[in-house]
Amino acid sequence: MDGADGGAPYYLASGNEVALFEQCHARQLAVMLKGPTGCGKTRFVEYMAWRLGRPLVTISCHDDLSASDLVGRFLIGHAGTVWQDGPLTRAVREGALCYLDEVVEARQDTVVVLHPLSDHRRILPIDKTGETVAAAAGFQLVVSYNPGYQRMLKDMKPSTRQRFVALDFAFPPPERESAIVAREGGVGHDLAHALVSLGQRLRGLHDRGLAEVPSTRLLIAAARLVAGGIPVQQACHAAIVAPLSDEPTLVGAMRDLVGLTF
Ligand code: ADP
Repeated sequence: MDGADGGAPYYLASGNEVALFEQCHARQLAVMLKGPTGCGKTRFVEYMAWRLGRPLVTISCHDDLSASDLVGRFLIGHAGTVWQDGPLTRAVREGALCYLDEVVEARQDTVVVLHPLSDHRRILPIDKTGETVAAAAGFQLVVSYNPGYQRMLKDMKPSTRQRFVALDFAFPPPERESAIVAREGGVGHDLAHALVSLGQRLRGLHDRGLAEVPSTRLLIAAARLVAGGIPVQQACHAAIVAPLSDEPTLVGAMRDLVGLTF
């Protein structure tokens, strides 16, 4: 079940992240989810929003994202100028979980808007209207952050980082990752297990220059292709090898590992 019908999103925990998050929510602490892309951070937030019975507002951050995109803006219409809340303001008023995915992608002048919401004040001052919105009780700020990615180019400022409780995410242990791949990919346990061992071998290529290693998401994509009738080696090439690199030596090394596994 993926939650689209109102049921629980499927989430298999790896440690005590559920209890930790619940405590943070109860104590109105902002949370930072740290970990590589495709390891389950978004699914975890979806699951926690369901579990806590809160609406979820998700915002994908990018370097064009402005404070107005988050907070809102005046729109000019037939009836004159009207204020329209941005997604952050909506979340603050509704008491939603507000999930900012890949927050380092946003510019610093955008991120500072979050500061008064992420400490004891829990307010959102809206400069353009002069309003100060106090966060409704269930409001919680959640951000995700991939520490390995573009580390040299972008990092979070200490003044921002220190406002969050950080939960570390990594790829799940092999047995759990196999269960996730089997369930989400719609394949049997043996194939899921083999894809996970391939994933682990490929992750070993990180030391040999593979910048982004295969995530659980890519393993699931390969499983889905196989479930749809694509031969397993082709599926691994299309869903795992080709997305990860264009560099012939690395592609060759990855193809060899696919051959060794299947
Ligand atoms: P991230 O937000 O870290 O980039 P996602 O949450 O989008 O990653 O995870 C990618 C996919 O992997 C999800 O859509 C889901 O199918 C699967 N997944 C990863 N970890 C888990 C988990 N612990 N439980 C259930 N599904 C998971």
